[in-house]
Amino acid sequence: MEFKDLGLSEGILRAVEEAGYKEPTPIQAQAIPAIQMCRDVLGLAQTGTGKTAAFTIPMIDALAGGRAKARMPRSLILSPTRELAAQISENFVKYGKYHSQLSMALIVGGTSMDDQIRNLERGVDVLIATPGRLLDLFERGKILLADIKILVIDEADRMMDMGFIPDLERIVSLLPPMRQTLFFSATMPGPIKKLADKYLSNPKTITVSPPSSTAVNVEQYLVNVNHSRGKSAMFMKIYEQEDVKNAFVFCNRKRDIDEVCRFMKSKRLSCAALHGDMEQDERTAALNRFKAAEIQILVCSDVAARGLDVQGMSHVFNWDVPFNAEDYVHRIGRTGRAGAKGRAFTLVVPSDEKALANIHKLIGKKIDLLEMAGATPTEAPPPQPSVQQKARHHNRDQKQNHRHRLPPQDIEESDVNNGSFGDDIPSFLQKK
Ligand code: AMP
Repeated sequence: MEFKDLGLSEGILRAVEEAGYKEPTPIQAQAIPAIQMCRDVLGLAQTGTGKTAAFTIPMIDALAGGRAKARMPRSLILSPTRELAAQISENFVKYGKYHSQLSMALIVGGTSMDDQIRNLERGVDVLIATPGRLLDLFERGKILLADIKILVIDEADRMMDMGFIPDLERIVSLLPPMRQTLFFSATMPGPIKKLADKYLSNPKTITVSPPSSTAVNVEQYLVNVNHSRGKSAMFMKIYEQEDVKNAFVFCNRKRDIDEVCRFMKSKRLSCAALHGDMEQDERTAALNRFKAAEIQILVCSDVAARGLDVQGMSHVFNWDVPFNAEDYVHRIGRTGRAGAKGRAFTLVVPSDEKALANIHKLIGKKIDLLEMAGATPTEAPPPQPSVQQKARHHNRDQKQNHRHRLPPQDIEESDVNNGSFGDDIPSFLQKK
């Protein structure tokens, strides 16, 4: 099937061609005709499948065919995270570039409410929102939802994980009952299934890859480490052997993210942190720098990274085995996208046994164990290098001129002095 077989407008076809898309992805080929026929859709799909285009493209066409410059928004797209909402809005701009009469507002927390209100007052066709800020503006009387004809709920399972279901229920109760609902989720646990049953009427169900499958283009490896404090040395070992173009490094705890980032900077790796405790502008700046290839590594939490689409990411590292087996699937799905090959490494300590068993059960196979010759760290902290050794390490590190490494002036003074040169183990990894 080709895009031109889908009965899309000339403007969309041009935009899609300019985006370099040769043919619709399976979810697009199935969802677009159903949406055009005004059917509800239940899409079981992860990010990376082209699901954003699957709902934005027919939405743009439907809106463009109606009244131009509506006073009240006619479509609402709900997303669990600000980054994902921003990404959807970028898609909207990309596919809607030849439908410039359509307008959109990005309604997310952490950014100026005044700007969003001004935008809303001008009249928009599409709201792309996270639940909290949407409700906030609604309660202030700044948003009218009475004319919403198309509702998209994206990443419903993540909405549940983030505790947004009550907000979601409230928002849906504010919408007209006569509407088209498009419901997307990577997984379908019981409560999500119930919600889908409640909101959807005779939906077209589209499953593009089983929810528990891991991306076929990702080579996955487990790497045993005797103790958490050996993770940094092991990470470096793998990093040195791999051709890491760009990578996500996932940590389970927010507090570890900054520490891991500091460690990496001490090794002159260009990296930034991404987690929910950061200010929105810091989060956006980190993500933009990563997307622009100004930094090589993003050290992040599950919540912040969920659904982010970064082209051509070569690697994913799980600094920690995720507590939740489904998060493993989402994490490694950040690489191996759009047909590219990716590699995923998971650092495993003995106490991860149960979490790992759950992952193996979910994905239906055992992940290969990578033997790292001579790299198994000992439980005892390594001996402190002498002053002379430290100086040698310092000189050696300064001489290295890896393309991804930061110039020395980018390293914070505190990192230089905190004993994290050479093979020293950062202090936070010695806690356990
Ligand atoms: P998504 O699943 O919406 O996050 O999309 C994943 C990536 O696939 C995005 O970078 C899109 O630009 C890209 N994409 C979407 N549709 C197509 C298509 N038909 N052909 C090639 N790439 C696509």
